[in-house]
Amino acid sequence: MTKVLYPASFDPITYGHMNVIEQASKIFDEVVIAVMQNPSKDVGFFTLEERKQLIEKIYEGAQNIKVLLGTGAAVDVAIKNDCKALIRGLRSISDFEKEIGEAIINKSISNGQMNTLCFFADSNYQFLSSSVVRELYYLDKDITNYVHPIVHEGMQKKLTRR
Ligand code: ADP
Repeated sequence: MTKVLYPASFDPITYGHMNVIEQASKIFDEVVIAVMQNPSKDVGFFTLEERKQLIEKIYEGAQNIKVLLGTGAAVDVAIKNDCKALIRGLRSISDFEKEIGEAIINKSISNGQMNTLCFFADSNYQFLSSSVVRELYYLDKDITNYVHPIVHEGMQKKLTRR
């Protein structure tokens, strides 16, 4: 059984991430989504636990998609959960530059064990990011084309509570 790990911030998960997950879930036996804290990013919109719960709700019926909270290095989370590779999504040349650097470091810190596989999101998701979704939401713009209704509802609830 071949499992792969998709580590990212997912604040929030978008249709771009979901497109990558869908592609990978058709190739591998299991895709493990790891909601990771990114120390270089500001305090998020959702807490890590909230992000995980939203993703779990979206993939409730999916047999080969699992979600967990990851702490520490993504490669350690992958090894601990018996994942054979990391997966990431590529949108643009700027993503490529960032991803190739991370892939090399991740391979090095896992003593050559952990490779990174990249997927290209379909063209309609090419300019989609979590930060664009957050910005549009704060500007009171329609985000229904960018996130699952469960995420949209979660964002509405979160802001009403603030
Ligand atoms: P991180 O903070 O780890 O970069 P993100 O949640 O912003 O976390 O994104 C993580 C991964 O998902 C990256 O590999 C990124 O390129 C990919 N990704 C994000 N949005 C898209 C998208 N619209 N299409 C394809 N890949 C995407």
